[in-house]
Amino acid sequence: MRFPKFCLPLLCFATSCWAGGTPTLAQTPDGTIASPSTTGGISPQVQTHRFWDRENAWLFAGIGAARALDYSSTLNMRRRGRQEILLTNWVVDHHALFAGIEVGGAALSVGASYVLHRTGHHQLERWVSIMHIGLATVGDVRNYSLQTAHPAPSAGGP
Ligand SMILES: [Zn+2]
Repeated sequence: MRFPKFCLPLLCFATSCWAGGTPTLAQTPDGTIASPSTTGGISPQVQTHRFWDRENAWLFAGIGAARALDYSSTLNMRRRGRQEILLTNWVVDHHALFAGIEVGGAALSVGASYVLHRTGHHQLERWVSIMHIGLATVGDVRNYSLQTAHPAPSAGGP
């Protein structure tokens, strides 16, 4: 974990707090969600979707995969003698705690997407996941690409 991957969802969550109110939505008989304009309201027409639609399901699966790869790549990096930068070595070396942090990061990202969905920011909702996957994957590749640390030989050694 070499990049502050949790920052983007937090930023998006924070920016969503000052966003407009939640639009009132209604579900049509065919299962799609319609805006007030299609149901007789006075708001401008907004095409929206269910939160757990196919695209979000794939994006959230991608987040899960990226977090799992981050867990794996970070532990690999630690086994090769590299130092954790974002968290402490102690946290990363405590595998259950580190796994919990990875799950928490994924849950925070999904939560931020949900807040954005509920406030009508559907493109930003997708971009939170896309950016999370992208940044995490770059960090994962970097973790695996780091040179193995070789400690300097001691003065009294052979
Ligand atoms: Zn949405």
